[in-house]
Amino acid sequence: VFRIRLDKFLANMGYGSRKDVKALIKNKRITVNDEIIRKSDIKIDRYQDQIKCDDHIITYQEFIYIMLHKPSGYLSATEDNKQKTVLDLIKKKDKILDPFPVGRLDKDTEGLLLLTNDGQLAHELLSPKKHVDKKYIATVAEKVTESDVKRFSEGVVLDDGYLTKPAQLSVIGEYRVQIIITEGKYHQIKRMFEAIGNKVLYLKRISMGSLTLDRDLDKGKYRELTKEEITQLR
Ligand code: URA
Repeated sequence: VFRIRLDKFLANMGYGSRKDVKALIKNKRITVNDEIIRKSDIKIDRYQDQIKCDDHIITYQEFIYIMLHKPSGYLSATEDNKQKTVLDLIKKKDKILDPFPVGRLDKDTEGLLLLTNDGQLAHELLSPKKHVDKKYIATVAEKVTESDVKRFSEGVVLDDGYLTKPAQLSVIGEYRVQIIITEGKYHQIKRMFEAIGNKVLYLKRISMGSLTLDRDLDKGKYRELTKEEITQLR
């Protein structure tokens, strides 16, 4: 299961296209267990064999974790026939390991979106049992009152009869609020405001669990998570 073609391994690790890595191999720059290799199609063991390029050890990266500042107008999906998806914002070299969005933000919602190919972490973050906090900033159509804050803290009944878990609503300005929810029902925040006779005009996610969107990360931009951030998320 851990065996993979040498050229594929090198391409996956960011050493260029299949053609580029074939050239590296031909130019004797790649060794496997300190032996110069001339054939691209040999199979190597990603964990047992030591692969080097110009004496530099290449360690196998299995997972990728991306913090994306999602702009409005992109679907939280990996592909779509007609519409732009968040994967269109990711460079080809960062798509090699097949990251996918962890959960969904609506097309018109902005902010923090985590992309990874780590299915186990994605599952843990999305599991209803884990109650991962998700913090949002919203602009709403009607002024928010103390009674709205109280209603959110008790949970509200959505249009389909579902009673949400308690949510923490804080007033930032007359029409500006912060909301923390621990679930991820379809259009949850928009529907919670509809349930109290209000309307969300703008929505942005700023954190998910321990992960907070960088203030200086522009819309449409992304970066990989640090080791510490990945550890904290678990
Ligand atoms: N709640 C919503 O209504 N939309 C989102 O995108 C996220 C939470």
